[in-house]
Amino acid sequence: MRKNIVAGNWKMNLNRQEAVALVDQVLTQLPAENITEILFVPSFVHLHKIAKMCTDITNVFTASQDCSSHESGAFTSEVSANMIASCNAKYVVLGHSERRSNFKESNQVLKIKVEQAFANNLAVIFCCGETLDQRESGAHFDWIKLQLTESIFHLSAADFSDIVVAYEPIWAIGTGITASSEQAQEIHAFIRDLIAQRYGNYVAKNTSILYGGSCKPINAQELFSQQDIDGGLIGGASLNATDFVAITQLF
Ligand code: PEP
Repeated sequence: MRKNIVAGNWKMNLNRQEAVALVDQVLTQLPAENITEILFVPSFVHLHKIAKMCTDITNVFTASQDCSSHESGAFTSEVSANMIASCNAKYVVLGHSERRSNFKESNQVLKIKVEQAFANNLAVIFCCGETLDQRESGAHFDWIKLQLTESIFHLSAADFSDIVVAYEPIWAIGTGITASSEQAQEIHAFIRDLIAQRYGNYVAKNTSILYGGSCKPINAQELFSQQDIDGGLIGGASLNATDFVAITQLF
C-alpha cells in the first residue's frame, strides 16, 4: 500500500553508543500520533540493537544499507539477506549510488540482490538516479528506465508490492544541492508512469516513491507536497534527531 515513508540512511557513520543515543533522541521527540513510516538505516553491526529499540514502536522499523548477492558461503565480510532478516529488519536498501559507484554494482547484480531480499521476506527500497552529465545531456529518463527495467521489472505484480522506489539524483546527494520540487516531481511522475505501463495503474498508484538528495527540514515540505513524492531517503539530516524528526512530520 502506498504510504509516506522517511528513511534515515546513516551510511558509515555513528558508533554503537552514538547510534543508540540518536535513536533514543528520535523516539523521545517523535509525536505519539506519528503516522509516517520511519526507518533507521544503520550499519549492519547496529541493526539488531536498533531493531530491538524499535520493537513495539508503531510505524518505526529498520532497514539495512545493502545485502549480499549470495545466499551463504565463502564470501568473507559479506552479509546475507537471511542474516539481515534475522536481525528483524523490515527493508533492505539496494542500488544506492554510493554502492553503484564505489563498489561497481551493476543493474544485473542488483537484480540478484533483490531476489535474495525477497527470498528472505525483506521489502526493498530500490534506488535509482542520474549523474549531472546524464541530466544535462537529457539522458536521465532512459537511464532511470534502464535501472528499473534491468533490476526490478522482472518481478511479479505481487512481489512488486514490496518495492519502494527511491529517486536520488546523484548530483544532489551530499552536495547541498537539492533537485527543485518540479524536477523531482517530473521524475517521480515518470517512474510512476513506467510502473503503470509495466504493472497497471493499481500497482503504480500503490507504490511509494521517495526522493533523496540533500533533503532537509527547510526543503522537505515543498518536495513532499508534490503529487508523486511519498517521502524521503535522508542522508546527512538523518544524523540529527531534531532535523530528522522534523522531516518525518512534514506531510
Ligand atoms: C543518501 O545518502 O541517500 C542521501 C540522500 O544523502 P543526503 O541526504 O546527505 O544528500
